[in-house]
Amino acid sequence: MKWRSLLSIFFLTSLLGCENPRLHLLNVFKSIDLEVRYNSRAYPLLQDICGRYGPRMAGTEAGTRVEELASLLFRSYGFDNVFFQPFTFNQWQRGSVRLRIDTSGTFTDFPALALAYTPTGNINAPIVDAGNGLPEDYKNMNVTGKIVLIHLGLLPGTPENVRNTHRAQKLSLAIAQGAAGCIAVNPIPGDLPTTGTATLDGGMIKIPAVSISYERGMQLKQSLSKRRCTAVLFTENSSGPAMARNVVARFEGYEFPAETIVVGAHLDSWDISPGALDNASGAVSVLDMARTFKALNLKTRRSIDFVLFMAEEAGHYGSELYVREARHNNRLEGIRYMFNLDMTVNTYGFNLMGRYESEDFFRETGATIHRTDSSFSNTIAHFSYLGSDHAPFLFEGIPTFTPLCRYEEYHTYHTSADTQEYITAPMLTDNVRISAMILYALANTPELPATRFTDEQIRQYLIDNQLQEELVISGDWKWD
Ligand SMILES: [Zn+2]
Repeated sequence: MKWRSLLSIFFLTSLLGCENPRLHLLNVFKSIDLEVRYNSRAYPLLQDICGRYGPRMAGTEAGTRVEELASLLFRSYGFDNVFFQPFTFNQWQRGSVRLRIDTSGTFTDFPALALAYTPTGNINAPIVDAGNGLPEDYKNMNVTGKIVLIHLGLLPGTPENVRNTHRAQKLSLAIAQGAAGCIAVNPIPGDLPTTGTATLDGGMIKIPAVSISYERGMQLKQSLSKRRCTAVLFTENSSGPAMARNVVARFEGYEFPAETIVVGAHLDSWDISPGALDNASGAVSVLDMARTFKALNLKTRRSIDFVLFMAEEAGHYGSELYVREARHNNRLEGIRYMFNLDMTVNTYGFNLMGRYESEDFFRETGATIHRTDSSFSNTIAHFSYLGSDHAPFLFEGIPTFTPLCRYEEYHTYHTSADTQEYITAPMLTDNVRISAMILYALANTPELPATRFTDEQIRQYLIDNQLQEELVISGDWKWD
């Protein structure tokens, strides 16, 4: 080949590469769209993880096996920098539970599930209705020595300005008020009790706390409005040190390799179901996004850490460890964004969690996503909360965001019904495609829209987003 032809090829490719970044982005998005539509492994992987491994609580044998599987999968996609981040934590083990309530003169059994970190206990006490279990619900009420009935969500008729808090906060408040036990009502109908952690410090809580279904809860509430009801509550559980591991696959950027976008999902589930939505959906999405990046041989300016966190359910242990390790290795400054995938199906936009500076970028990128898929509605929302693996990053002032997903019709959150049967392939691939596109755009944009907050900005952010009270109650407020 003559040098002239070589030169013209050079000019042509450099023109294509840099002249029109929007066209370049659109072309990459189209290739991501096709790759995921035709070659995604997300759906069979979710079926396999849920069907073959079952529940995968951190620190259990199934948990360890699924960590191994994730690491092998990352390698099989072509990642050569794949590693574990081991840690120990206090694991809770569920034993037996029995709840009998006298609502009409005789005791009847209520199907119940212990909230995690409930100790062994045996109490017989009157029940009092403590509404939503928020501070205002305890005004003029003495619950000492009694069993409080609380709603885990917000009851119908709750004033608009009332903000719900995490179940662990509600438990801590009930204990502080002197309650001897707690019956927590699943706010989601479906005739099933729910579980979830009730501890703020990782240790056993002081009183037995169980959940009952929405339907049973409403029935009990009505009985309480008419007469005095007594409950006999027996729980038997234990806890002890256990080991789990995050799985990290590192993808190196070509221009700013020290800058990292973290995309993470928790791989662990509760013990009562395989956690198909919570969070096999997010875990297989992260795996399939990683696969897509390698399959298409994508290159990005910044590095990406594809992370599967463990022990999110027990208390965000894996993500806290990731942040600690990053600080220890002087990598924390380089973490520019954290993209958290927890319960991710039917994606239609992004929750930017109050980082308004990111909005233009997401809106414009979303418009390009919309050009490859007209069903993507490019919705932008801002609600911040602390109940998942983005929280340790948020506390460091790192911009965090999540996909906006539609799953309200699946009443399975932390119940025995969170199984793989109701998940379909399109529900997952919708998320993988959209999430892979935004991840690529973010890792490759010449300039990022949001920067890390200073300590003072974090403080103001937490106050502005009504997260201060929750942190004060849990003893985690450290900004004054
Ligand atoms: Zn989750």
